[in-house]
Amino acid sequence: MQPNLIDHHGRTIDYLRVSITDLCNFRCIYCRPPQGVKLIPHSDILRYEEILKIISVSKTLGIKKVRITGGEPLVRRGVVDFISRLTHEIGLEDVALTTNGSKLDEMAPGLRDAGLKRINVSLDTLRRDCFSAITGVDGLVKVMKGIETSFEAGFSPIKINVVLLKGFNEIDVAEFARLTLNRALDVRFIERMPFGNDTEPINSPNSFGAVEAIGIIEKSFGTLIPLESSALDGPARMLRIKGAQGRIGIIDPVTGHFCPTCNRLRLTARGSLRPCLLSPLEIDLRSFLRTDPDDSQLEAFIKAAVMAKPASRYSNLQRMETGMNTIGG
Ligand code: SAM
Ligand code: SF4
Ligand code: SF4
Repeated sequence: MQPNLIDHHGRTIDYLRVSITDLCNFRCIYCRPPQGVKLIPHSDILRYEEILKIISVSKTLGIKKVRITGGEPLVRRGVVDFISRLTHEIGLEDVALTTNGSKLDEMAPGLRDAGLKRINVSLDTLRRDCFSAITGVDGLVKVMKGIETSFEAGFSPIKINVVLLKGFNEIDVAEFARLTLNRALDVRFIERMPFGNDTEPINSPNSFGAVEAIGIIEKSFGTLIPLESSALDGPARMLRIKGAQGRIGIIDPVTGHFCPTCNRLRLTARGSLRPCLLSPLEIDLRSFLRTDPDDSQLEAFIKAAVMAKPASRYSNLQRMETGMNTIGG
């Protein structure tokens, strides 16, 4: 029988998101402040061996899917080999990656060979100037090339994550939706969340929500067709433009409520287990891991993190002290 990790609220936890670095080659306005972030000392970042150990034990407890994130995961040296060990040594079948796409033009084929199953690319605009304004880097052409190379390497569908940023990308929303017409692309619109490095106040006029994004798309393409979501869609509500090959997803952590079906746990770059993205509780696994515990002790620690999962995010959504760059989104 398959092992199961079930939390206090009856939810099965089978998904671990792992941030492997806090470093990034972009400075997205909603993730990193312009003055830069205080980087974590190298010795405080989990080593690959340590991450592999945690994932291996988590798998025996019931974790089936792992997503690698960051910071920008593809800037950490050795990441392809690390993914290869996850799929080949540990035997994880479902390993996915979230990336800003800046290195996919060089790395997509190697990642495919390493056994990576799926790629999410974060891309908030299709216009070069706007891309530079959001990320601080003139990198749109390279990211678009990376998406093409990923298709050619066999990744399909590819998911594009778009954070809704008022004053920046309202006019991109319909163009992103258009991309789904003829390609196996899922474009997912995500509400901006109040994180430590995001200098916007909660509910600021610089955010716009899921309902508004759907309105913009329907104005150009007609009423969207609601689809059944699969486990792979996570918290996204899936929709389709009539006749389109790809799909549109809506992820609304600010205005929506998907906590009752939450199935995830997060491991931060500095080795803390975070039971809930939007609650501040973290459990320091790194210090414990460096005491060389046996597997059963580690299991107990991971189970404790699962049991610490709140039923939902705090009802009054507060600004989180920790930035997305260390938690990994
Ligand atoms: N660097 C990679 C990337 O950008 O895909 C992986 C890490 S990034 C922190 C993971 C995801 O978090 C990205 O899709 C990004 O858009 C999202 N994110 C970061 N800050 C956010 C915020 N304040 N609100 C909503 N999403 C955010
Ligand atoms: Fe880097 Fe991703 Fe944060 Fe942008 S969202 S600064 S790409 S970690
Ligand atoms: Fe899960 Fe917390 Fe996100 Fe709710 S807010 S879906 S409990 S991680």
